[in-house]
Amino acid sequence: MSENKTRLAIIIPCYNEELVVKSTVETLLKVMDSIISKGKISKESYIYLIDDGSKDRTWEIITELHKVFGKRVKGTKFIRNYGNQKALIAGLLGVKHIGCDCVISIDADLQQDENAIEVFIDEYHKGADIVSGIRKDRKTDSFFKKYSALCFYKLMNILGVKIPPNHSDFRLVSYKGLEILEKYSEAGLFLRGFFHEIGLKTSYIHFDVKPRALGKSKFNFLSLTSLALNGITAFSIVPLRIIAVTGVLTVCGSCLLAVDVIIEKYIFHNTPSGWATLVFLLAFFGGLQLFCLGIIGEYLGQIFNEVKARPRYIIEKEII
Ligand code: UDP
Ligand code: MG
Repeated sequence: MSENKTRLAIIIPCYNEELVVKSTVETLLKVMDSIISKGKISKESYIYLIDDGSKDRTWEIITELHKVFGKRVKGTKFIRNYGNQKALIAGLLGVKHIGCDCVISIDADLQQDENAIEVFIDEYHKGADIVSGIRKDRKTDSFFKKYSALCFYKLMNILGVKIPPNHSDFRLVSYKGLEILEKYSEAGLFLRGFFHEIGLKTSYIHFDVKPRALGKSKFNFLSLTSLALNGITAFSIVPLRIIAVTGVLTVCGSCLLAVDVIIEKYIFHNTPSGWATLVFLLAFFGGLQLFCLGIIGEYLGQIFNEVKARPRYIIEKEII
């Protein structure tokens, strides 16, 4: 069989993953070998690990793996922890520079089904530029994560960002997709929204999620909230419009209230009543104003971050 020319890169963001990174790389190399033997990808395919400023032995293990497997295992190390989205962007841009025809991102704990990689490649050969992994269920998630994710995707859809629910960062991107990504310089890029929006031919593959074998999840309430807020404010200005509409409705409401007050004063002469209404209205609109200010603050924060135009991340080392 003549050798396939499709060079696949698998990128893996790693933050404190010393317990799993070795077995993950070995498993993925086996998966790659099997796909190579079927003539679907080239022997030049490789794995690229992004160490997101780990404080444990993750980077040492990546270096050892590079010594054992040579060019098949490459890696880069951030100077500090920047978060999983930045690590993914660094991986995507890193493999574009090293060279590849398509890239698949997968988590270091291999919770996503690695056997779906071959299906991703099949979809790529059928002409898809993006192949998105959709989780079949959320059985492995905590109660909080499951329902907050559900609300997030519902909210995003209401706000006009049509991301399918249970979308994940387990996806294939073609070289064409990487070229488009490189043109986007915004610091707070939200990849799930981005790849959905650019309009390239996309396939969806449903996969099973396994429980994390070793180590623990690196996401907590705060990091998930920040990811969700970033996703919303980077992709939708509908919340700002809602504020404006609420403002107009409030003004109309207060005009009606004023009419009521006048009628009470001059026709029924019973003005002292209504203290409770007053306190309620004060508290309600005080809260509403703070909430609206908070939303505006979120967008202002986005602008602030983008205007500073700081580098997304600083790379300390790279082994290729
Ligand atoms: N990760 C990262 N930087 C971070 C947090 C997580 O690179 O600051 C990586 C992590 O090593 C893993 C992936 O992102 O490969 C997903 O993280 P995790 O498995 O902890 O998330 P969960 O599966 O619980 O959503
Ligand atoms: Mg995980």
